[in-house]
Amino acid sequence: MMEIVKMPSEMTAWSRKERSLGHSIGFVPTMGFFHEGHLALMRLAGQRADKVVASLFVNPTQFGPHEDLSNYPSDVARDCQLAEESGVAVLFVPDAETMYPEGACTTVAVNGLTRNLCGVDRPGHFDGVTTIVTKLFNIVQPDLAVFGRKDFQQLVVIRQMCRDLNIGVKIVGHPIVREADGLAMSSRNSYLTDSLREAALSLSRAIQLARKQTASGERDPGIMAASVRTLIDSYPDTAIDYIQFVDQHDLKAVKTITCDTVLALAVKIGGKVRLIDNGFLLDKDS
Ligand code: AMP
Repeated sequence: MMEIVKMPSEMTAWSRKERSLGHSIGFVPTMGFFHEGHLALMRLAGQRADKVVASLFVNPTQFGPHEDLSNYPSDVARDCQLAEESGVAVLFVPDAETMYPEGACTTVAVNGLTRNLCGVDRPGHFDGVTTIVTKLFNIVQPDLAVFGRKDFQQLVVIRQMCRDLNIGVKIVGHPIVREADGLAMSSRNSYLTDSLREAALSLSRAIQLARKQTASGERDPGIMAASVRTLIDSYPDTAIDYIQFVDQHDLKAVKTITCDTVLALAVKIGGKVRLIDNGFLLDKDS
């Protein structure tokens, strides 16, 4: 039977006990409204650790003032069932008052890596992410934590944070889980009407196009960005936030495509739903 824990102190006590019994702990932080992407992360955590903890917390500090915090999709009862079926031992579901008591004034910020890509459109977002992930790591005290490559920049930022702050949690990346037609799974896909969902396919199709161009020898990111832009613009209801060809380690824009290059995209669909996607272009699956 999966346990649902609300209080940080109770969560930490559970983890201490499991660790004293010699059990390793794998952790999957989430904002809920689970889809197959989340569940795949939980299953991977279960393959790599004895016990799996998942957290469900819609973290207010990683949302901008005009973003979708207030209507972020939620179905906690369904999430509990899916998490249990995916082998989660404890679902940690704290509330915002507990996580951010009045007077809290410490944040964790990773510089540099958070300046480009989503950092441009979402100022403060990554500080919210790194602060909550640090708090969750301290509360759950896992041996490893699984993050999806769907949020590629987030994964790179968290790896850097753990290196810089000597956080002894092994960070495991999971490939992007997609719908049959290529759309990267996301809780935000639930905002899409049928016609907007068609427009949302422009992201994965753009990555496929870039892969095809690379396969036929193209290595110039400028040329490829132009054709990716044309493809996305050909779908109605799309507004491009960014098209960036970046190095997978430092997230800096590259001058030529190599097997370390990631194409990262953010596109607003129907004026409101901001979707991201990314993929390697050469020799790596994603
Ligand atoms: P979220 O609930 O959207 O904050 O996501 C929680 C975790 O699930 C993050 O590590 C995400 O990168 C990961 N995730 C979300 N969607 C996918 C997906 N389609 N494939 C793989 N991982 C995902």
